[in-house]
Amino acid sequence: MNTAAAPVLEFRDIHRWYAEGDKRLVILEGGDLAVHEGEMVALVAPSGAGKSTLLHLAGLLESPDQGQVLIAGEDAARMGDSERTALRRTSIGFVYQFHHLLPEFTALENVMIPQMIAGLTKAEAANRAGQLLAYMKLAPRALHRPAELSGGEQQRVAIARAVANAPRLLLADEPTGNLDPETSSYVFEALEALVRQSGLAALIVTHNHDLARRMDRIITLRDRRIVTA
Ligand code: ADP
Repeated sequence: MNTAAAPVLEFRDIHRWYAEGDKRLVILEGGDLAVHEGEMVALVAPSGAGKSTLLHLAGLLESPDQGQVLIAGEDAARMGDSERTALRRTSIGFVYQFHHLLPEFTALENVMIPQMIAGLTKAEAANRAGQLLAYMKLAPRALHRPAELSGGEQQRVAIARAVANAPRLLLADEPTGNLDPETSSYVFEALEALVRQSGLAALIVTHNHDLARRMDRIITLRDRRIVTA
């Protein structure tokens, strides 16, 4: 059950493989990982090593073939589908390399929508969206549509949207992979401030070694295992 000390995300002896004819393509065999509240962990590994697979497992989008994924001490495998979906919506935020903002809505609306889906009123959602955008130093851009924003601004809106419902875990797949170095650094600073201030746990895939070094820990995938880099 839930305990105060439980990591926000925990993998216990996780295995993941794909069936290829009568063979197995093994992606992960025996990985352990714990990410705690307020902690930022960088995942740096070559293409094809299994980073996306690991994020999908953490985000409860895939299930392990063996081992356990626990969110705040609760074993995802013991939950029903609807409970798992609800947990994903309320407790986990996702940021991707491409922002995936809805083009016909303003930045403010993009951050409001997940909150309204979660049941907040329009006024409540607008209020929190405004606060989050101000926190991301985007208040003057709140009423612009994504096409009117720079790449760095779009990505900061995507981060605000990912945390709109106050998740406990933030999963990011190369959140600055599409940005120039200076913009990357600025977007990362905003992300870092948010994690530190809100006590989120964050697992961030990046190819950027400078950013990885600014996190609390770097992990990698070696011989299909999760290891400290
Ligand atoms: P990364 O994100 O590090 O590039 P992935 O997690 O996307 O790596 O993929 C790891 C390996 O698993 C790759 O060899 C990939 O081809 C394979 N893979 C990913 N998804 C599937 C799938 N649905 N079926 C079979 N193989 C897959």
